[in-house]
Amino acid sequence: MNKEINSFEIVNGLIDSSVKKLNLGRAVYDLLSQPQRVLTVTIPVQMDDGSVKMYTAYRSQHNNALGPYKGGIRFHQDVDLDEVKALSSWMTLKCAVLNVPYGGGKGGVIVNPKELSFGEMERLCRGYVRAIAPVLGSEVDVPAPDVGTNGQVMAWMMDEFSRFKNHNEFGVITGKPVILGGSRGRIEATSRGCVFTIREAARAIGLKLKDATVVVQGFGNVGAIAARLLKDDGCRILAVSDTSGAIYNPRGLDISTLEEHKACTGSVKDFPGSQSITNEELLALSCDILVPAALENQITGANAAQIKAKIVAEGANGPTTPEADRILAARNIMVLPDVLANAGGVTVSYFEWVQNNSGYYWCEDEVNERLERKMVEAFNEVYCLYKKRKDVDMRGAAYMVAISHLAEAMRIRGWLGTQMYSDAKCEFKLA
Ligand code: NAD
Repeated sequence: MNKEINSFEIVNGLIDSSVKKLNLGRAVYDLLSQPQRVLTVTIPVQMDDGSVKMYTAYRSQHNNALGPYKGGIRFHQDVDLDEVKALSSWMTLKCAVLNVPYGGGKGGVIVNPKELSFGEMERLCRGYVRAIAPVLGSEVDVPAPDVGTNGQVMAWMMDEFSRFKNHNEFGVITGKPVILGGSRGRIEATSRGCVFTIREAARAIGLKLKDATVVVQGFGNVGAIAARLLKDDGCRILAVSDTSGAIYNPRGLDISTLEEHKACTGSVKDFPGSQSITNEELLALSCDILVPAALENQITGANAAQIKAKIVAEGANGPTTPEADRILAARNIMVLPDVLANAGGVTVSYFEWVQNNSGYYWCEDEVNERLERKMVEAFNEVYCLYKKRKDVDMRGAAYMVAISHLAEAMRIRGWLGTQMYSDAKCEFKLA
């Protein structure tokens, strides 16, 4: 990821301008520009050779005005505190855009998970949960997977927390395997939600999904499944990438064979029938839909002018910088912002938590139907505001929707004082 650009400053800049556009008081910005609590912990892990290694890890609890803190845990060698704080702010905004009754949180461990054995990984996961257990709980803070973590990691973490509580607490974490209270449809949910927003956006701008051309940056959980679902909808996937490089086939890539190739070889590299291109070439390809699904700050002032897509759908969190946003908006490229486009994951995490709390489990069709309803409703709320305002792009509109929901909750809870603003001055009612 591009470490020159500070994602926490970016998200706060966007919160600041949205608070001003909504005519909300300074207290709203002050409350949303800092996490409510940040934990930094050191986790000792016994390695397979008998030595002990220390890992630094974080949990940022950004805001819980609308419900328990909610957000994934990232295992990556480049994790830093500002990144974790930014990711937790995005979670608060995302849940508020989707009307999901959660706040925002995020965790991160500075580790390259590919360098750990299975046993070392389990000990690190259990150590992380022991370190942050006092601030976790299904009504307090509910983690989930992110880059470098998966269902197995969630299972170990849920198990460790259940030992700490002396009873099974399935609802403390989401993204679990189905056998341990995971929701059907959760693995595909982020990508499926992203595809629902792409479908709505395509309809809005008059683009037919059948035969539309697609480029995906980051062939991981989100990117690979988005590519597969878009292909199922009739799109042609021209190019994809991962950390090993990018591959291109103008006639379209066969995504299920590519998924098998990646499972066997560990990367998309050398996929038969494709040609190898650079990451910069991938982003500059002519296509209808570009899905950045890797990490932050990939589309910047330096490369935004080369992007030729009609829709950029942010599978990843924070892939587009504000400077790039301005360039894309001036070129009439519609950006579906992360807080909307990749919110399918947290939405089905919410469904998982509801199922855990009620002890009654839904079939996959039910999950997908409810997800579609939530995503379409959120898209329409954001899109209507975007069309109405004229002075914001889709990201600006999404932030305004989210912050209006959050400000209303914080005001009614009494967090903003009594003289911050009057209803006459603010724009809680956006419609
Ligand atoms: P992942 O680790 O499964 O996949 C990330 C992929 O991106 C990998 O294939 C990796 O090789 C590739 N990658 C990394 N850096 C790259 C680069 N510079 N160029 C090209 N490819 C690169 O992670 P994921 O769960 O798919 O998450 C991806 C993004 O989506 C992250 O920003 C994450 O925060 C966001 N997100 C994930 C979820 C979820 O449910 N997994 C939900 C919401 C948002």
